[in-house]
Amino acid sequence: MDGNKGITKFEFYLNLLLLRKRRCLTLKIAIMAYKISEECIACGICIDECPVDAISEGGIYKIDADLCTDCGSCAEVCPVECISIDE
Ligand code: SF4
Ligand code: SF4
Repeated sequence: MDGNKGITKFEFYLNLLLLRKRRCLTLKIAIMAYKISEECIACGICIDECPVDAISEGGIYKIDADLCTDCGSCAEVCPVECISIDE
């Protein structure tokens, strides 16, 4: 009896793909975006600090959570300390 219990090449690559996708999802959960609170005085200092252009202008500045890489540079320069990690 042969009883081939190995997996095909297709199944191997499919498993590899699913594993990588799961790792990406885990990584996404690990990266927490920063957010700007209503105390923002729209001074504009933070916007030039962001390496990924995640901050946009407005009456209250906003951070795009999908772009933010959690570096914290913006929070370090905010004069009213209204930027914090979005828990
Ligand atoms: S934490 Fe870094 S990446 Fe996120 S908005 Fe601030 S400067 Fe940009
Ligand atoms: S540095 Fe602070 S107060 Fe100034 S625009 Fe950015 S979030 Fe608002």
